[in-house]
Amino acid sequence: MSAPVFRFAPSPNGHLHLGHALSALLNARAAVALKGRLLVRVEDIDQTRCTPELERDMFEDLAWLGLEWEEPVLRQSGAFPHYRAALEKLQDLGLVYPAYLTRAEIKAFVAARENAGEDWPRDPDGAPLYPGDEAVLTEEERMARAASDAPFALRLDMKKALERIGTPLFWDETGAEGAALFEPVRQMPVEAAAWGDVILARKDTPTSYHLSVVVDDARQGVSDVLRGRDLYHATSVHRVLQELLGLPAPRYRHHRLILDQDGRKLSKSDKDTSLRSLREAGMTHFELRRRIGL
Ligand code: GLU
Repeated sequence: MSAPVFRFAPSPNGHLHLGHALSALLNARAAVALKGRLLVRVEDIDQTRCTPELERDMFEDLAWLGLEWEEPVLRQSGAFPHYRAALEKLQDLGLVYPAYLTRAEIKAFVAARENAGEDWPRDPDGAPLYPGDEAVLTEEERMARAASDAPFALRLDMKKALERIGTPLFWDETGAEGAALFEPVRQMPVEAAAWGDVILARKDTPTSYHLSVVVDDARQGVSDVLRGRDLYHATSVHRVLQELLGLPAPRYRHHRLILDQDGRKLSKSDKDTSLRSLREAGMTHFELRRRIGL
């Protein structure tokens, strides 16, 4: 069996916090324990929020953590042609459609339905499912937008995608954080319908998180995705895309999250838990590990 390949894939759109430290160190520890490789991948498709300064700071923080990774790192901003090729494949399968509704239009439509007493479905992240252009725009409005330069997103027709796949999908969720790191394997059912028609590309960003992560995990031969529980439901979308694109499925493990005093997930905008501020305040490695329970 070839050596397992792990990856830590942060986005330099803010400073890394304690949750990232946990994820990075768990990946590093697993790679060492299983004599595998550790890759760092820069997920910087959002070129308005990700900056070279934040990326530099990120690598400084990772070095401070003592992380060792392979060079050169893959930067998603340099890989758009790969995502485009995957998108074209999905388009050729007839599974992608242009979606013209703006965020404000979706919000107003959903608010109106909810005010009328309807329960509008939401995805696992809490965002309302896309209602479809036909639900909101007249035929003339739709034609006018298609004929003009109006911005649109490309969405996956999830219903059609699942019909095409036909059989229920699963992923291998691997064991606990401790010694028996990747055993035993539990089969988790894919529940992708709950996401509705996910975005695959936007006008200003010609890919999406879901699409690029799946393409790169395959391109980089990642065998083990070890990431936070906040991405547990996203794995269903990733399995669907892998199946449609004919890509291998890594094993997955979703680790615990570090929460703040109010029990909420940490945020990059919260300065108090950023690795930089903790380091500047004199936190040692020992204290860091204790704080994140390692
Ligand atoms: N780039 C994502 C983030 O920073 C993580 C991607 C992943 O691990 O799949 O949340």
